[in-house]
Amino acid sequence: MAGFKLRLRSLPFDTQVFSYHLDGDFFNRVEKTEVRSSSVDITLEVTRKTENTYVIQMACKGWLIIPCDRCLDDLTLDVDTDYRITVRHEGDELDDSRDGVLLVPEAWSELDMTELMRDTVLLTIPIVHCHADGECDPEMMAHLDEHWTDTEPDAEGPSDEVEDLSESDKSDDAIDPRWEALRKLKDNN
Ligand SMILES: [Zn+2]
Repeated sequence: MAGFKLRLRSLPFDTQVFSYHLDGDFFNRVEKTEVRSSSVDITLEVTRKTENTYVIQMACKGWLIIPCDRCLDDLTLDVDTDYRITVRHEGDELDDSRDGVLLVPEAWSELDMTELMRDTVLLTIPIVHCHADGECDPEMMAHLDEHWTDTEPDAEGPSDEVEDLSESDKSDDAIDPRWEALRKLKDNN
């Protein structure tokens, strides 16, 4: 991890470029994520503006493999994102509450970039991520279809209504119309 530390205080007053490569289990080292594999090149352009201020331009390019939401098989996501942040030595505490500005304690001579790189890349993962239509693992899809057909009526939740009806009416004939529709659907399959 030492390789991801920027030695801020030692930087000259101009722009320096640093390159890193994130692969293997980088995204699972601190805590487990859904990333199964990765290869991401990071380029940091660090410009020291003043004694205490640095502008960091981060470019991330590569790919991640994560499970598809639909079939759980490997899904490759391209990573191509940039992030710009101003880092300033100020006070005694780390403060990352502002957008685009990171305040680091004056006593720090180094800044560990691990978390910034990690978060910047992980934020590119869309909330819903699936293979294109028709490209999911067919075996897994067949298996999941079976599973859903078996469990759908319970999962939909109207069973509570049915119980309430039978308790209050004491009538065996009372059937929630939604249940009826679901049963028909199921019989037709
Ligand atoms: Zn899929």
